[in-house]
Amino acid sequence: MASSSPIRFVYFDLDDTLLDHSHAELQALRDMHASADAPFGGHSFEQVHQLYRQINPVVWRKYASGEFSKRQAKVGRFSQLLSGLGLSTEADEELAHRYLDTYSGHWKAIEGAFEAFELVAERLPVGILTNGFVEIQRSKLEQFPSIRDRSHTVVISEEVGVLKPDPMLFEESSRRAGVPAEQILYVGDSLSSDVRGGIGAGWKVAWYSESTYDHPDVLSFTDWSTLISHVDSLAAG
Ligand SMILES: [Mg+2]
Repeated sequence: MASSSPIRFVYFDLDDTLLDHSHAELQALRDMHASADAPFGGHSFEQVHQLYRQINPVVWRKYASGEFSKRQAKVGRFSQLLSGLGLSTEADEELAHRYLDTYSGHWKAIEGAFEAFELVAERLPVGILTNGFVEIQRSKLEQFPSIRDRSHTVVISEEVGVLKPDPMLFEESSRRAGVPAEQILYVGDSLSSDVRGGIGAGWKVAWYSESTYDHPDVLSFTDWSTLISHVDSLAAG
């Protein structure tokens, strides 16, 4: 049943909702592959990128479930990449550092997202709820002060100790927002983390996706003006 309780707080996901993480990831790997001392042997960029795209989500799932430590996630994905390419894993740590340095040089807004964030923030209190390494997510917010300064709360999974879609992270976010779960809207791109996590916590969800999800409290959108009208109608109750 859709709840008619008006929303009073809007959380946004960061990666691939407000910020173009996929672009930064692609560019970071491209830069690393193109550098003269790249440790990828004779493998093409496509091979490296494709393998990384296979490895990284699995590593993140294991990190989210507690099976992998932060180091196993951060460095281990590059050990797996190198060994998957049939190379020595000696350079894994250096590669992990280089990746994060390069990645941070390619952050940019998703088209239309910042403007929409501002418009929502004029209507209701807003916050950020993101999975990720705390130092990286903090430094993204430093680079985009317009987002940081508008946010009433910033919840980073690593600081709480569990990752989305863990209900505990959503409960803590509701507590920090200071409103009941059914009065929170979550704007995010991930089906498993954001849509299933948000619904599981009793939040409403605006899914930034071309796909649809059959639930009365989930609306899919790709056009940011749709989000604004949706927020207006949910805030009216
Ligand atoms: Mg995301």
